[in-house]
Amino acid sequence: MRYFPVFADLDNANVLVVGGGEQAAQKARLLLKTAARVKLVSDAATDELRQLGKQGAIAIVARRFEPADAEDARFIFAATGDRGLDRMVADAARARGLPVNVVDAPELSTFIMPAIVDRAPVTVAIGTEGAAPVLAREIKTTIEALLPANLGALASRAQSLRKLVAKAIPDAPARRRLWERLLQGPFRRAVLSGEAAEADRILGAELEGAATPAGGRVALVGCGPGDPDLLTLKALQRLQEADVLVVDRLVNPQVLDYARRDAERIFVGKVPGGPSTSQAEINRILVREARAGKVVARLKGGDPLIFGRAAEEMAALQRAGIPVEVVPGVTAAHACAARIGLPMTLRERVRQFSVVTGATADADLGLDWHALIAKGAAFAIYMGVGNAPVIRRNLLAAGADPETPVVVVENGTREAERAVATSLLDLTDCVAQLELAHPAVIFVGLDWSDAGLEQPGAVMSYRRQRQPAKCQAHSNLNASAKADQ
Ligand code: SAH
Repeated sequence: MRYFPVFADLDNANVLVVGGGEQAAQKARLLLKTAARVKLVSDAATDELRQLGKQGAIAIVARRFEPADAEDARFIFAATGDRGLDRMVADAARARGLPVNVVDAPELSTFIMPAIVDRAPVTVAIGTEGAAPVLAREIKTTIEALLPANLGALASRAQSLRKLVAKAIPDAPARRRLWERLLQGPFRRAVLSGEAAEADRILGAELEGAATPAGGRVALVGCGPGDPDLLTLKALQRLQEADVLVVDRLVNPQVLDYARRDAERIFVGKVPGGPSTSQAEINRILVREARAGKVVARLKGGDPLIFGRAAEEMAALQRAGIPVEVVPGVTAAHACAARIGLPMTLRERVRQFSVVTGATADADLGLDWHALIAKGAAFAIYMGVGNAPVIRRNLLAAGADPETPVVVVENGTREAERAVATSLLDLTDCVAQLELAHPAVIFVGLDWSDAGLEQPGAVMSYRRQRQPAKCQAHSNLNASAKADQ
Protein backbone atom coordinates (compact mmCIF):
# COMPACT_ATOMS: atom_id res chain seq x y z
CA MET A 1 0.00 0.00 0.00
CA ARG A 2 1.63 3.21 -1.14
CA TYR A 3 -1.37 5.52 -0.73
CA PHE A 4 -2.92 5.50 2.71
CA PRO A 5 -6.69 6.05 2.79
CA VAL A 6 -7.97 8.62 5.30
CA PHE A 7 -11.12 10.70 5.69
CA ALA A 8 -10.28 14.36 6.12
CA ASP A 9 -12.48 16.73 8.13
CA LEU A 10 -13.23 19.74 5.89
CA ASP A 11 -15.72 21.48 8.14
CA ASN A 12 -14.87 25.17 7.82
CA ALA A 13 -11.53 24.33 6.22
CA ASN A 14 -10.05 26.55 3.52
CA VAL A 15 -9.65 24.63 0.29
CA LEU A 16 -8.05 26.09 -2.80
CA VAL A 17 -9.00 25.12 -6.33
CA VAL A 18 -6.85 26.53 -9.11
CA GLY A 19 -8.41 26.51 -12.58
CA GLY A 20 -11.73 27.53 -14.07
CA GLY A 21 -12.65 24.80 -16.54
CA GLU A 22 -14.79 21.67 -16.29
CA GLN A 23 -12.26 19.72 -14.26
CA ALA A 24 -12.02 22.52 -11.71
CA ALA A 25 -15.81 22.66 -11.64
CA GLN A 26 -15.92 18.94 -10.91
CA LYS A 27 -13.63 19.42 -7.93
CA ALA A 28 -15.66 22.39 -6.72
CA ARG A 29 -18.90 20.39 -6.97
CA LEU A 30 -17.38 17.56 -4.99
CA LEU A 31 -16.02 19.91 -2.36
CA LEU A 32 -19.39 21.59 -1.99
CA LYS A 33 -20.73 18.37 -0.55
CA THR A 34 -18.64 19.28 2.50
CA ALA A 35 -18.72 22.46 4.55
CA ALA A 36 -15.32 23.58 3.29
CA ARG A 37 -14.69 27.22 2.32
CA VAL A 38 -13.77 26.87 -1.31
CA LYS A 39 -11.60 29.51 -2.94
CA LEU A 40 -11.20 29.26 -6.70
CA VAL A 41 -8.39 31.12 -8.43
CA SER A 42 -8.59 31.51 -12.20
CA ASP A 43 -8.63 34.28 -14.74
CA ALA A 44 -11.47 32.50 -16.55
CA ALA A 45 -14.34 30.41 -15.17
CA THR A 46 -17.26 28.39 -16.59
CA ASP A 47 -20.79 29.73 -16.28
CA GLU A 48 -21.52 27.15 -13.61
CA LEU A 49 -18.56 28.31 -11.51
CA ARG A 50 -19.46 31.96 -11.93
CA GLN A 51 -22.97 31.12 -10.85
CA LEU A 52 -21.64 29.39 -7.75
CA GLY A 53 -19.52 32.44 -7.07
CA LYS A 54 -22.54 34.71 -7.33
CA GLN A 55 -24.48 32.50 -4.93
CA GLY A 56 -21.63 32.75 -2.47
CA ALA A 57 -21.09 28.98 -2.51
CA ILE A 58 -17.46 29.52 -3.55
CA ALA A 59 -15.18 32.55 -3.55
CA ILE A 60 -13.75 33.29 -6.96
CA VAL A 61 -10.47 35.19 -7.29
CA ALA A 62 -10.50 36.23 -10.93
CA ARG A 63 -6.86 36.38 -11.83
CA ARG A 64 -3.92 34.13 -12.49
CA PHE A 65 -2.65 32.00 -9.59
CA GLU A 66 0.07 33.42 -7.36
CA PRO A 67 2.02 31.26 -4.89
CA ALA A 68 0.72 33.35 -1.99
CA ASP A 69 -2.83 32.03 -2.79
CA ALA A 70 -1.76 28.72 -1.30
CA GLU A 71 -1.08 30.31 2.06
CA ASP A 72 -3.88 29.16 4.34
CA ALA A 73 -5.34 26.19 2.41
CA ARG A 74 -5.83 22.83 4.05
CA PHE A 75 -5.97 21.12 0.65
CA ILE A 76 -5.04 22.36 -2.79
CA PHE A 77 -6.39 21.16 -6.13
CA ALA A 78 -4.83 22.16 -9.42
CA ALA A 79 -6.96 21.71 -12.53
CA THR A 80 -5.80 24.50 -14.79
CA GLY A 81 -5.34 22.51 -18.00
CA ASP A 82 -1.90 24.15 -18.23
CA ARG A 83 0.86 21.82 -17.00
CA GLY A 84 3.25 24.71 -16.36
CA LEU A 85 0.74 26.45 -14.17
CA ASP A 86 -0.22 23.15 -12.47
CA ARG A 87 3.44 22.65 -11.66
CA MET A 88 3.65 26.12 -10.17
CA VAL A 89 0.67 25.32 -7.92
CA ALA A 90 2.24 22.01 -6.91
CA ASP A 91 5.55 23.71 -6.11
CA ALA A 92 3.83 26.39 -4.03
CA ALA A 93 1.98 23.69 -2.08
CA ARG A 94 5.06 21.60 -1.50
CA ALA A 95 7.05 24.62 -0.38
CA ARG A 96 4.41 25.14 2.31
CA GLY A 97 4.06 21.44 3.17
CA LEU A 98 0.42 21.46 2.04
CA PRO A 99 -1.28 18.48 0.43
CA VAL A 100 -1.86 19.00 -3.28
CA ASN A 101 -3.71 17.11 -5.97
CA VAL A 102 -3.04 17.89 -9.62
CA VAL A 103 -5.71 16.43 -11.87
CA ASP A 104 -4.35 13.60 -14.02
CA ALA A 105 -0.80 14.12 -12.72
CA PRO A 106 -0.04 11.81 -9.80
CA GLU A 107 3.65 12.65 -10.16
CA LEU A 108 2.89 16.24 -9.18
CA SER A 109 0.42 15.28 -6.45
CA THR A 110 0.93 14.38 -2.82
CA PHE A 111 -2.52 12.81 -2.63
CA ILE A 112 -4.90 11.31 -5.17
CA MET A 113 -8.67 11.22 -5.24
CA PRO A 114 -10.56 7.93 -4.88
CA ALA A 115 -13.70 6.93 -6.73
CA ILE A 116 -16.47 7.74 -4.27
CA VAL A 117 -19.77 6.14 -3.42
CA ASP A 118 -21.64 8.82 -1.55
CA ARG A 119 -24.27 7.85 0.96
CA ALA A 120 -23.13 10.44 3.47
CA PRO A 121 -22.45 10.00 6.26
CA VAL A 122 -21.56 6.62 4.76
CA THR A 123 -18.91 7.09 2.11
CA VAL A 124 -16.98 4.42 0.28
CA ALA A 125 -13.68 5.47 -1.25
CA ILE A 126 -12.11 3.19 -3.84
CA GLY A 127 -8.56 3.47 -5.05
CA THR A 128 -6.21 1.43 -7.18
CA GLU A 129 -3.19 3.73 -6.69
CA GLY A 130 -3.66 4.68 -10.31
CA ALA A 131 -3.00 1.10 -11.43
CA ALA A 132 -6.42 0.40 -12.92
CA PRO A 133 -8.98 3.23 -12.82
CA VAL A 134 -11.39 1.10 -14.87
CA LEU A 135 -11.36 -1.46 -12.08
CA ALA A 136 -12.10 1.26 -9.54
CA ARG A 137 -15.08 2.37 -11.62
CA GLU A 138 -16.37 -1.18 -11.88
CA ILE A 139 -16.10 -1.62 -8.12
CA LYS A 140 -17.87 1.67 -7.62
CA THR A 141 -20.74 0.56 -9.86
CA THR A 142 -21.03 -2.70 -7.96
CA ILE A 143 -21.10 -0.96 -4.60
CA GLU A 144 -23.53 1.70 -5.85
CA ALA A 145 -25.93 -1.10 -6.73
CA LEU A 146 -25.37 -2.79 -3.40
CA LEU A 147 -26.09 0.11 -1.09
CA PRO A 148 -29.64 1.44 -0.77
CA ALA A 149 -29.87 5.01 -2.03
CA ASN A 150 -30.98 6.33 1.36
CA LEU A 151 -28.51 4.36 3.43
CA GLY A 152 -27.28 7.72 4.64
CA ALA A 153 -30.61 8.28 6.39
CA LEU A 154 -30.08 5.09 8.36
CA ALA A 155 -26.56 6.11 9.36
CA SER A 156 -27.74 9.58 10.37
CA ARG A 157 -30.52 8.06 12.45
CA ALA A 158 -27.95 5.81 14.13
CA GLN A 159 -25.78 8.85 14.80
CA SER A 160 -28.65 10.66 16.47
CA LEU A 161 -29.40 7.63 18.67
CA ARG A 162 -25.87 6.97 19.86
CA LYS A 163 -26.12 8.85 23.14
CA LEU A 164 -29.53 7.43 23.99
CA VAL A 165 -28.40 3.86 23.28
CA ALA A 166 -25.13 4.29 25.17
CA LYS A 167 -27.06 5.47 28.21
CA ALA A 168 -29.72 2.76 28.00
CA ILE A 169 -27.24 -0.10 27.49
CA PRO A 170 -23.93 0.49 29.24
CA ASP A 171 -22.61 -3.01 28.50
CA ALA A 172 -20.48 -2.71 25.34
CA PRO A 173 -21.00 -6.19 23.83
CA ALA A 174 -24.76 -6.00 24.48
CA ARG A 175 -24.80 -2.57 22.88
CA ARG A 176 -22.99 -3.81 19.81
CA ARG A 177 -25.46 -6.64 19.44
CA LEU A 178 -28.31 -4.16 19.67
CA TRP A 179 -26.73 -2.06 16.94
CA GLU A 180 -26.38 -5.16 14.81
CA ARG A 181 -30.07 -5.90 15.24
CA LEU A 182 -31.08 -2.30 14.60
CA LEU A 183 -28.93 -1.82 11.53
CA GLN A 184 -29.64 -5.19 9.96
CA GLY A 185 -33.20 -6.00 10.98
CA PRO A 186 -36.73 -4.55 10.87
CA PHE A 187 -35.61 -1.16 12.24
CA ARG A 188 -33.40 -0.70 9.21
CA ARG A 189 -36.21 -1.63 6.85
CA ALA A 190 -38.56 0.82 8.56
CA VAL A 191 -36.06 3.70 8.41
CA LEU A 192 -35.12 2.99 4.80
CA SER A 193 -38.74 2.92 3.74
CA GLY A 194 -39.47 6.13 5.61
CA GLU A 195 -41.84 4.63 8.21
CA ALA A 196 -40.76 6.82 11.09
CA ALA A 197 -43.46 5.73 13.59
CA GLU A 198 -42.83 2.07 12.96
CA ALA A 199 -39.07 2.64 13.35
CA ASP A 200 -39.66 4.30 16.73
CA ARG A 201 -41.84 1.43 17.88
CA ILE A 202 -39.22 -1.16 16.92
CA LEU A 203 -36.50 0.89 18.55
CA GLY A 204 -38.44 0.99 21.83
CA ALA A 205 -38.97 -2.76 21.81
CA GLU A 206 -35.33 -3.47 20.93
CA LEU A 207 -34.06 -1.20 23.69
CA GLU A 208 -36.25 -2.96 26.20
CA GLY A 209 -35.12 -6.37 25.03
CA ALA A 210 -31.46 -5.42 25.05
CA ALA A 211 -31.62 -4.07 28.59
CA THR A 212 -32.17 -7.59 29.88
CA PRO A 213 -28.76 -9.31 29.88
CA ALA A 214 -28.16 -11.26 26.70
CA GLY A 215 -26.84 -14.78 26.92
CA GLY A 216 -23.91 -15.85 24.86
CA ARG A 217 -24.28 -18.28 22.02
CA VAL A 218 -22.07 -20.39 19.83
CA ALA A 219 -22.15 -21.00 16.11
CA LEU A 220 -20.16 -23.91 14.74
CA VAL A 221 -19.16 -22.40 11.44
CA GLY A 222 -18.00 -24.44 8.48
CA CYS A 223 -15.26 -22.42 6.82
CA GLY A 224 -14.71 -24.66 3.82
CA PRO A 225 -11.45 -26.12 2.57
CA GLY A 226 -9.43 -22.90 2.34
CA ASP A 227 -10.53 -20.61 -0.48
CA PRO A 228 -12.49 -17.81 1.29
CA ASP A 229 -14.73 -17.51 -1.78
CA LEU A 230 -16.26 -20.80 -0.69
CA LEU A 231 -17.59 -19.35 2.57
CA THR A 232 -21.37 -19.23 2.72
CA LEU A 233 -23.10 -15.90 3.26
CA LYS A 234 -24.28 -17.19 6.63
CA ALA A 235 -20.71 -18.09 7.63
CA LEU A 236 -19.72 -14.56 6.71
CA GLN A 237 -22.48 -13.12 8.90
CA ARG A 238 -21.51 -15.28 11.86
CA LEU A 239 -17.86 -14.31 11.40
CA GLN A 240 -18.77 -10.65 11.47
CA GLU A 241 -21.03 -10.92 14.50
CA ALA A 242 -18.60 -12.85 16.66
CA ASP A 243 -16.95 -11.39 19.75
CA VAL A 244 -14.69 -14.42 19.96
CA LEU A 245 -13.35 -16.72 17.29
CA VAL A 246 -12.25 -20.19 18.34
CA VAL A 247 -10.18 -21.33 15.40
CA ASP A 248 -9.14 -24.75 14.11
CA ARG A 249 -5.81 -25.24 12.42
CA LEU A 250 -7.41 -26.25 9.14
CA VAL A 251 -9.11 -22.87 8.85
CA ASN A 252 -7.29 -20.79 6.27
CA PRO A 253 -5.93 -17.62 7.97
CA GLN A 254 -7.34 -15.61 5.03
CA VAL A 255 -10.82 -16.46 6.31
CA LEU A 256 -10.08 -14.53 9.50
CA ASP A 257 -9.80 -11.33 7.47
CA TYR A 258 -13.59 -11.48 7.16
CA ALA A 259 -14.11 -11.27 10.92
CA ARG A 260 -14.30 -8.10 12.99
CA ARG A 261 -10.83 -6.80 13.65
CA ASP A 262 -11.51 -6.45 17.35
CA ALA A 263 -12.82 -10.00 17.76
CA GLU A 264 -10.71 -12.04 20.14
CA ARG A 265 -9.01 -15.04 18.50
CA ILE A 266 -8.35 -18.30 20.30
CA PHE A 267 -6.38 -20.85 18.29
CA VAL A 268 -7.07 -24.42 19.25
CA GLY A 269 -5.55 -26.15 16.22
CA LYS A 270 -4.92 -29.82 16.35
CA VAL A 271 -1.71 -30.59 14.50
CA PRO A 272 -1.58 -34.25 13.52
CA GLY A 273 1.09 -35.74 15.76
CA GLY A 274 1.94 -32.30 17.15
CA PRO A 275 0.91 -30.19 20.11
CA SER A 276 -2.80 -29.61 20.40
CA THR A 277 -5.57 -28.38 22.59
CA SER A 278 -7.57 -31.36 23.87
CA GLN A 279 -11.21 -31.65 22.86
CA ALA A 280 -12.22 -31.36 26.51
CA GLU A 281 -10.30 -28.11 26.77
CA ILE A 282 -11.94 -26.77 23.58
CA ASN A 283 -15.36 -27.64 24.99
CA ARG A 284 -14.48 -25.80 28.19
CA ILE A 285 -13.37 -22.71 26.24
CA LEU A 286 -16.62 -22.61 24.27
CA VAL A 287 -18.75 -22.90 27.40
CA ARG A 288 -16.63 -20.34 29.27
CA GLU A 289 -16.80 -17.72 26.52
CA ALA A 290 -20.54 -18.14 25.90
CA ARG A 291 -21.25 -18.02 29.65
CA ALA A 292 -19.49 -14.67 29.71
CA GLY A 293 -22.25 -13.45 27.37
CA LYS A 294 -20.13 -13.49 24.25
CA VAL A 295 -21.12 -14.40 20.74
CA VAL A 296 -18.74 -17.18 19.79
CA ALA A 297 -17.91 -18.40 16.31
CA ARG A 298 -16.26 -21.79 16.41
CA LEU A 299 -14.47 -21.93 13.07
CA LYS A 300 -13.90 -25.31 11.55
CA GLY A 301 -12.35 -26.46 8.31
CA GLY A 302 -14.79 -27.79 5.72
CA ASP A 303 -18.15 -28.73 7.22
CA PRO A 304 -18.49 -28.88 11.02
CA LEU A 305 -20.54 -32.07 10.96
CA ILE A 306 -18.07 -34.08 8.91
CA PHE A 307 -15.11 -35.33 10.95
CA GLY A 308 -15.26 -32.09 12.85
CA ARG A 309 -16.04 -33.38 16.37
CA ALA A 310 -19.03 -31.09 16.30
CA ALA A 311 -21.10 -33.58 18.29
CA GLU A 312 -18.87 -33.31 21.36
CA GLU A 313 -18.94 -29.53 21.29
CA MET A 314 -22.70 -29.43 20.75
CA ALA A 315 -23.25 -31.84 23.61
CA ALA A 316 -21.07 -29.82 25.98
CA LEU A 317 -22.93 -26.64 25.04
CA GLN A 318 -26.32 -28.30 25.36
CA ARG A 319 -25.40 -29.56 28.82
CA ALA A 320 -24.47 -26.00 29.77
CA GLY A 321 -27.77 -24.70 28.38
CA ILE A 322 -26.06 -22.56 25.74
CA PRO A 323 -27.74 -22.09 22.37
CA VAL A 324 -25.72 -23.57 19.55
CA GLU A 325 -26.20 -23.30 15.82
CA VAL A 326 -24.45 -25.14 13.02
CA VAL A 327 -23.53 -23.30 9.82
CA PRO A 328 -22.66 -25.78 7.10
CA GLY A 329 -19.51 -25.43 5.06
CA VAL A 330 -18.17 -26.91 1.86
CA THR A 331 -16.54 -30.15 2.91
CA ALA A 332 -13.09 -31.08 1.62
CA ALA A 333 -14.31 -33.91 -0.62
CA HIS A 334 -16.80 -31.67 -2.40
CA ALA A 335 -14.32 -28.86 -2.87
CA CYS A 336 -11.49 -31.15 -4.01
CA ALA A 337 -13.73 -33.01 -6.46
CA ALA A 338 -14.95 -29.71 -7.87
CA ARG A 339 -11.39 -28.44 -8.35
CA ILE A 340 -10.60 -31.37 -10.62
CA GLY A 341 -14.05 -31.85 -12.15
CA LEU A 342 -14.41 -35.35 -10.71
CA PRO A 343 -18.04 -36.50 -10.42
CA MET A 344 -18.67 -38.19 -7.07
CA THR A 345 -21.70 -40.10 -8.29
CA LEU A 346 -22.36 -41.31 -11.78
CA ARG A 347 -25.65 -42.33 -13.28
CA GLU A 348 -25.92 -46.13 -13.33
CA ARG A 349 -22.27 -46.56 -12.28
CA VAL A 350 -21.55 -44.91 -8.96
CA ARG A 351 -24.75 -45.07 -6.97
CA GLN A 352 -23.26 -44.78 -3.54
CA PHE A 353 -20.61 -42.39 -2.24
CA SER A 354 -19.22 -42.53 1.30
CA VAL A 355 -16.84 -40.44 3.29
CA VAL A 356 -14.61 -42.40 5.63
CA THR A 357 -11.80 -41.53 7.98
CA GLY A 358 -8.37 -43.03 7.56
CA ALA A 359 -7.16 -41.82 10.93
CA THR A 360 -6.76 -44.17 13.77
CA ALA A 361 -4.54 -44.78 16.71
CA ASP A 362 -3.92 -48.39 15.73
CA ALA A 363 -3.69 -50.36 12.50
CA ASP A 364 -7.33 -51.44 12.53
CA LEU A 365 -9.30 -48.68 10.88
CA GLY A 366 -12.57 -50.41 11.75
CA LEU A 367 -13.97 -49.98 8.25
CA ASP A 368 -16.11 -52.45 6.35
CA TRP A 369 -13.73 -52.87 3.43
CA HIS A 370 -16.01 -55.23 1.53
CA ALA A 371 -18.87 -52.76 1.62
CA LEU A 372 -16.59 -49.94 0.48
CA ILE A 373 -15.54 -51.79 -2.67
CA ALA A 374 -18.99 -53.15 -3.53
CA LYS A 375 -20.15 -52.65 -7.11
CA GLY A 376 -21.45 -49.14 -7.71
CA ALA A 377 -19.72 -47.76 -4.62
CA ALA A 378 -17.01 -45.11 -4.32
CA PHE A 379 -15.63 -43.22 -1.37
CA ALA A 380 -13.43 -40.41 -0.14
CA ILE A 381 -10.93 -40.96 2.66
CA TYR A 382 -10.23 -38.05 4.98
CA MET A 383 -7.14 -37.97 7.19
CA GLY A 384 -5.84 -40.94 5.23
CA VAL A 385 -2.49 -40.11 3.62
CA GLY A 386 -0.54 -41.18 6.70
CA ASN A 387 -2.26 -44.55 6.63
CA ALA A 388 -2.18 -45.10 2.87
CA PRO A 389 -0.34 -48.47 3.14
CA VAL A 390 -2.87 -49.83 5.66
CA ILE A 391 -5.78 -48.67 3.51
CA ARG A 392 -4.30 -50.18 0.37
CA ARG A 393 -3.52 -53.49 2.07
CA ASN A 394 -7.00 -53.84 3.53
CA LEU A 395 -8.77 -52.97 0.28
CA LEU A 396 -6.67 -55.44 -1.74
CA ALA A 397 -7.19 -58.12 0.89
CA ALA A 398 -10.94 -57.57 0.63
CA GLY A 399 -10.68 -58.33 -3.07
CA ALA A 400 -10.53 -54.86 -4.60
CA ASP A 401 -9.28 -54.66 -8.19
CA PRO A 402 -5.67 -53.41 -8.00
CA GLU A 403 -6.48 -51.14 -10.94
CA THR A 404 -9.26 -49.36 -9.04
CA PRO A 405 -8.76 -45.66 -9.83
CA VAL A 406 -7.48 -43.52 -6.97
CA VAL A 407 -7.20 -39.73 -6.99
CA VAL A 408 -5.46 -37.76 -4.24
CA VAL A 409 -5.97 -34.02 -3.77
CA GLU A 410 -3.63 -32.32 -1.33
CA ASN A 411 -4.28 -28.78 -0.06
CA GLY A 412 -7.43 -28.50 -2.17
CA THR A 413 -8.37 -24.89 -3.12
CA ARG A 414 -5.24 -23.58 -1.44
CA GLU A 415 -2.15 -22.16 -3.04
CA ALA A 416 -0.14 -25.35 -2.68
CA GLU A 417 -2.86 -27.55 -4.20
CA ARG A 418 -1.68 -30.78 -5.88
CA ALA A 419 -3.80 -33.46 -7.46
CA VAL A 420 -2.60 -36.84 -8.65
CA ALA A 421 -4.34 -39.78 -10.28
CA THR A 422 -3.05 -43.27 -9.61
CA SER A 423 -4.32 -46.78 -8.96
CA LEU A 424 -5.01 -48.63 -5.74
CA LEU A 425 -1.97 -50.79 -6.43
CA ASP A 426 0.30 -47.74 -6.68
CA LEU A 427 -1.25 -45.74 -3.86
CA THR A 428 1.48 -46.33 -1.27
CA ASP A 429 4.31 -45.52 -3.68
CA CYS A 430 2.47 -42.50 -5.00
CA VAL A 431 2.04 -41.01 -1.52
CA ALA A 432 5.66 -41.77 -0.62
CA GLN A 433 7.29 -40.63 -3.87
CA LEU A 434 5.34 -37.41 -4.18
CA GLU A 435 5.49 -36.88 -0.43
CA LEU A 436 1.77 -36.26 -0.27
CA ALA A 437 0.86 -34.96 3.16
CA HIS A 438 -1.97 -33.70 5.33
CA PRO A 439 -4.43 -32.25 4.45
CA ALA A 440 -5.43 -34.47 1.55
CA VAL A 441 -8.48 -36.35 0.37
CA ILE A 442 -8.11 -39.76 -1.27
CA PHE A 443 -10.89 -40.66 -3.72
CA VAL A 444 -11.28 -44.36 -4.46
CA GLY A 445 -13.38 -45.73 -7.30
CA LEU A 446 -13.89 -42.48 -9.18
CA ASP A 447 -12.49 -41.75 -12.59
CA TRP A 448 -12.97 -39.27 -15.39
CA SER A 449 -12.96 -41.82 -18.20
CA ASP A 450 -15.91 -43.69 -16.64
CA ALA A 451 -17.81 -40.44 -16.92
CA GLY A 452 -16.72 -39.82 -20.50
CA LEU A 453 -14.47 -36.97 -19.37
CA GLU A 454 -10.82 -36.17 -19.87
CA GLN A 455 -8.45 -36.06 -16.93
CA PRO A 456 -7.72 -32.33 -16.41
CA GLY A 457 -4.24 -31.15 -17.34
CA ALA A 458 -3.62 -29.93 -13.82
CA VAL A 459 -3.87 -33.47 -12.43
CA MET A 460 -0.62 -35.46 -12.42
CA SER A 461 -0.58 -39.15 -13.22
CA TYR A 462 1.44 -41.50 -11.11
CA ARG A 463 2.19 -45.03 -12.24
CA ARG A 464 4.93 -47.21 -10.89
CA GLN A 465 6.25 -49.13 -13.86
CA ARG A 466 6.37 -52.86 -13.26
CA GLN A 467 9.80 -54.29 -13.97
CA PRO A 468 9.82 -56.72 -16.87
CA ALA A 469 11.36 -60.00 -15.54
CA LYS A 470 14.79 -59.62 -17.14
CA CYS A 471 15.27 -55.94 -17.29
CA GLN A 472 16.84 -54.24 -14.26
CA ALA A 473 15.28 -50.88 -14.65
CA HIS A 474 17.25 -48.15 -12.89
CA SER A 475 14.30 -45.88 -12.64
CA ASN A 476 10.90 -47.35 -12.10
CA LEU A 477 9.15 -44.12 -11.54
CA ASN A 478 6.83 -42.42 -13.91
CA ALA A 479 5.44 -39.47 -12.12
CA SER A 480 4.73 -37.12 -14.94
CA ALA A 481 4.80 -33.83 -13.17
CA LYS A 482 2.50 -32.12 -15.60
CA ALA A 483 0.88 -30.10 -12.97
CA ASP A 484 1.91 -27.99 -10.02
CA GLN A 485 1.84 -24.82 -12.06
N1 SAH B 1 -14.60 -30.95 8.65
C1 SAH B 1 -13.62 -31.08 7.60
C2 SAH B 1 -12.78 -32.32 7.76
C3 SAH B 1 -11.87 -32.27 8.94
S1 SAH B 1 -10.89 -33.71 9.08
C4 SAH B 1 -14.34 -31.07 6.24
O1 SAH B 1 -15.56 -31.18 6.19
O2 SAH B 1 -13.67 -30.93 5.23
C5 SAH B 1 -9.41 -33.17 8.31
C6 SAH B 1 -9.28 -33.78 6.94
O3 SAH B 1 -10.04 -33.07 6.01
C7 SAH B 1 -7.87 -33.73 6.39
O4 SAH B 1 -7.06 -34.75 6.90
C8 SAH B 1 -8.15 -33.92 4.93
O5 SAH B 1 -8.41 -35.27 4.65
C9 SAH B 1 -9.43 -33.14 4.75
N2 SAH B 1 -9.16 -31.76 4.29
C10 SAH B 1 -9.47 -30.62 4.92
N3 SAH B 1 -9.12 -29.55 4.18
C11 SAH B 1 -8.58 -30.02 3.06
C12 SAH B 1 -8.04 -29.43 1.88
N4 SAH B 1 -7.97 -28.11 1.75
N5 SAH B 1 -7.58 -30.24 0.91
C13 SAH B 1 -7.65 -31.58 1.04
N6 SAH B 1 -8.14 -32.19 2.12
C14 SAH B 1 -8.61 -31.43 3.12
